[in-house]
Amino acid sequence: MDHSGYSISKSWQNSEDNLKKDKMLTLRKKIAEALEGDFLDLREISQLFGIKEKEVLDHLMHIEKSVHHRGFSVDPASCQQCGFFFKKRARLSTPGRCPLCKSEHISPPRFKINNE
Ligand SMILES: [Zn+2]
Repeated sequence: MDHSGYSISKSWQNSEDNLKKDKMLTLRKKIAEALEGDFLDLREISQLFGIKEKEVLDHLMHIEKSVHHRGFSVDPASCQQCGFFFKKRARLSTPGRCPLCKSEHISPPRFKINNE
């Protein structure tokens, strides 16, 4: 066994990375499970799991890819001012403003995984 400081700190680093990765994948699985029940938006998921909306978005993009055979539903974002639906929008993030009335009061898109 090699007890030099270098290899000890290196193996510590590796296990730390694996731990982080494990934690991330577990979280992703939990988010996916939550989405099998109800439509949720970015803010709701971020509050539910105590992570940033940006992190939720990253998880969602992976979840969307991994569940494609079962169906990932997106309830499109809509303008609170004029009711415009952002149906053609492929991105999962919330649009900044309405293309029709220029309002910035946008209801965020909501996500759900279809049950089999
Ligand atoms: Zn509008």
